[in-house]
Amino acid sequence: MKAVLDHVGIAVASLEEAVAFYRDALGLEIEATEEVASQGVRAHFVGVGGPALELLEATSDASPIARFVGRRGPGLHHITLRVDDLAAALERLKARGVRLIDETPRPGAENALVAFVHPSSAHGVLVELQQKEQDA
Ligand code: ZN
Repeated sequence: MKAVLDHVGIAVASLEEAVAFYRDALGLEIEATEEVASQGVRAHFVGVGGPALELLEATSDASPIARFVGRRGPGLHHITLRVDDLAAALERLKARGVRLIDETPRPGAENALVAFVHPSSAHGVLVELQQKEQDA
């Protein structure tokens, strides 16, 4: 199985304030913005050369990002590893007893399929596995 780092997700309390730091103070470029209604989040992707930074703001109180920020405050939320075959990757992890949040791929940001691995199986890090959508 091959995986490459696609992006690092950062939970923020306010996208406006986060943009004031990442874009205005650091001088980075917002390359894409997106709202994932199913997850109750708004995301800004910040270009930093290779893998992007994904700034995540909750749009509803039920959002996982709202719960995260409420419990621990803003901060590093997840890393995303891109794989070629997400279903196969999940099977492989399941076979090894890895605890998954998503047993099957589901739609995520950037028209990709995603699934999360539980931090308890990933040494404290929330790992998102992602497969970019392929044209059929
Ligand atoms: Zn992400």
